[in-house]
Amino acid sequence: MPGTNLTREEARTRAALLAVDAYEIELDLSSARAGGTFRSTTVVRFTAAEPGASTFIDLVAPAVTEIVLNGRALPLENFADSRIALPDLAAENELRVVADCAYTNTGEGLHRFVDPADGETYLYTQFEVPDARRVFANFEQPDLKASFAFTVTAPAGWVVVSNSPTPEPAGDGDTRVWTFEPTPRMSTYITALIAGPYVGVFDSYDNGAQHVPFGVYCRPSLREHLDADAIFAVTRQGFDYFQEKFDFPYPFAKYDQLFVPEFNAGAMENAGAVTFRDQYVFRSKVTDASYEARAATILHELAHMWFGDLVTMEWWNDLWLNESFATFAEVVCQAEAPGSKWPHSWTTFANQMKTWAYRQDQLPSTHPIMAEINDLEDVQVNFDGITYAKGASVLKQLVAYVGQDAFFQGVRAYFKRHAWGNTRLADLLGALEEASGRDLRAWSAAWLETAGINVLRPELSVAADGTIESFAVLQEAPALPAGARGEAVLRPHRIAVGLYELVDGKLVRTDRIELDVDGERTAVPQLAGRKRPAVLLLNDDDLSYAKVRLDADSLAVVTAHLGDFTDSLPRALCWASAWDMTRDGELATRDYLALALSGLQRESDIGVVQSVQRQVKLSLELYADPAWRETGLQRWAAAAETALRAAPAGSDHQLAWARTLAGAARTDEQLALLAGLLDGTAEIDGLAVDTELRWSLLGRLVATGRADEAAIDAELARDNTSSGQEHAATCRAARPTAAAKAEAWASVVDSDTLTNYVQDAVIAGFQQPDQRDLLAAYTEKYFASVKQVWETRSHEISQQIIGGLYPAYAVSQATLDATDAWLAAADPAPALRRQVVEARAGVERALKAQAADS
Ligand SMILES: [Zn+2]
Repeated sequence: MPGTNLTREEARTRAALLAVDAYEIELDLSSARAGGTFRSTTVVRFTAAEPGASTFIDLVAPAVTEIVLNGRALPLENFADSRIALPDLAAENELRVVADCAYTNTGEGLHRFVDPADGETYLYTQFEVPDARRVFANFEQPDLKASFAFTVTAPAGWVVVSNSPTPEPAGDGDTRVWTFEPTPRMSTYITALIAGPYVGVFDSYDNGAQHVPFGVYCRPSLREHLDADAIFAVTRQGFDYFQEKFDFPYPFAKYDQLFVPEFNAGAMENAGAVTFRDQYVFRSKVTDASYEARAATILHELAHMWFGDLVTMEWWNDLWLNESFATFAEVVCQAEAPGSKWPHSWTTFANQMKTWAYRQDQLPSTHPIMAEINDLEDVQVNFDGITYAKGASVLKQLVAYVGQDAFFQGVRAYFKRHAWGNTRLADLLGALEEASGRDLRAWSAAWLETAGINVLRPELSVAADGTIESFAVLQEAPALPAGARGEAVLRPHRIAVGLYELVDGKLVRTDRIELDVDGERTAVPQLAGRKRPAVLLLNDDDLSYAKVRLDADSLAVVTAHLGDFTDSLPRALCWASAWDMTRDGELATRDYLALALSGLQRESDIGVVQSVQRQVKLSLELYADPAWRETGLQRWAAAAETALRAAPAGSDHQLAWARTLAGAARTDEQLALLAGLLDGTAEIDGLAVDTELRWSLLGRLVATGRADEAAIDAELARDNTSSGQEHAATCRAARPTAAAKAEAWASVVDSDTLTNYVQDAVIAGFQQPDQRDLLAAYTEKYFASVKQVWETRSHEISQQIIGGLYPAYAVSQATLDATDAWLAAADPAPALRRQVVEARAGVERALKAQAADS
């Protein structure tokens, strides 16, 4: 039984047989306010290379009422197991399927949401990877492109947006009908429909004769917070930059960006109708790092309009390339576009993407970037740090390797050659080889077909007078975790070595040498005979993907002066290196804390500050020697309060420290400060205690038993929105009582009524490191229920539970043993096994780091 799965082999067979011309899809959403199901009618025309052959079309629906192939009604029993069997095809076929499809509350398919602020219903689709079939019957694989014409019946007064421009609705009475023009040829997973009483703001991109209408939408309850002008400005920058770099005009008729509720990912690149999580409409003050992240997401999705939507991967094994390209494009655009507000975007990339990639690449589940994707279950767990972050890091390295001009020249040829078609990796590499003249076969084998992270170390010999006698870069093969797939190999690295000197207390780069590192030892003769600088930094500018270690003298200078680099990128690299060493048990958690306490005082990059704040908290909870943990936590909380009081009034740093203190407060005085800020009896000059910060403060007070359910209800009454309901759910689950834990657990594990967002909120509240005793009983419960969760819940929902409720704070051999016993006895499906094995690796790493800290 395939269930809802589809294998690559099935997809190949079907693509060889069929060419799909066009879909006409009628959706009757007049029932949306009531929920339940909606009528979906699909008419699809397609040809078959082999008349008489049979195939199937995909559909996930509670019921099918009509199947007509070439004028002949087929038995409804042909619909089974999420497919409709189509026997005896003609050369030219017309299929009509009428089904009752279901609204979802999981963010997959057609998500239905009721806004508590106005009682109105809001819908949107999310189809990647295989969920268009939850809304209409279709051949759900990326290489069967077709044109799609949607006709939608919905309540009068609604806004309906799809890939094609929104037409004037027709009809009268309670409903209207929107008849959209057919789309250009595209894959099923980037079709989209957004419907409800959303509000829109409009503008356009005009460049010579080119006119592209822009729309930005959200729910009315968020309208007062929607800064559409800022969103249009970034979008316009992206249009300018990408059109020039890609030498290909934006390929669709308009560009709408819709901020939608309870969205699982950051955003989705539906052609001309991009959906975003609506936390990107900021209800309260956020730091500049949040604006930067939103701009990055806007540019990422825009880049997909070319790479992904215009030219699409043939199968999901090239998902990594799709995501890596869009990620690279977003960062390079921010770094280079005229007028960009975030020209330091490579610092953020080093700080976030690289860290994510390095973490994922050291898990037992790590895999080559080019993963075997045999079926849909494989791809659904592959939206990971290898696919997004390592892929993008390696793409950055590829650009350094071939040169950026040659890279974009190759990309231009690639878009022209493959517009509206499907491709494989070889098509892009071929275009890059033509443009650069570099043979990429060896490069591709070393970087894309192997797993793990090389370590680069300096080998340095210095004479008594401080002159460098010799300098070389040593490369180590990746240390792959047991069970990891892929070979551990040395790779070609294009890197820079930075030379830094202390000048008036600042670390200033005085020279930079770029070179190819290959093999175990690469001599750098350019450095011989020169005076040893204060710091020698390998992989300066972060060109390559490697763990980097410092020589002892450089490390000493960096430890004392981390905050004194004049540029943010080397600081970010050193922060990342210190964090990496802490995770590896090479730097004791207490020493990492000391480094953070000194370095953060001088760190100006707010994104880096917030990352280090999160990492310190995590290291104290997981990696600190339990006998010392409380000391470390108290030191951290005290430092947060000091930094909060010292930060400039109204600054991003002030807000970041306020949030940190809200998560870290331990003493009576600190908790009293939180309570005072919440009830207005305490004040920090310039700190706005707004909606989101109030919930952070309350969350900590609730978790420490200093605020009760009445306080949660009162806060919800002040903020009776969907976000407020989620925060309230987190707070309730965070209460330090056995009853609260049991209630939270039951609502997630024993019931399936919570929406994706509320469930996530409950899990976040349930897992409190300070409540290890209360949580102890749940290790056994977790293993007793995890398999059933996997088997009975949707992919998104089960993934939240499996990763989120794993006993991550129970750092002990007993947890490892319980996990191993379950793995041995339960014989889980590969995708389930992978998630549990990844969670187990966190505990294993924490045990090692705790030993290193004791
Ligand atoms: Zn993407």
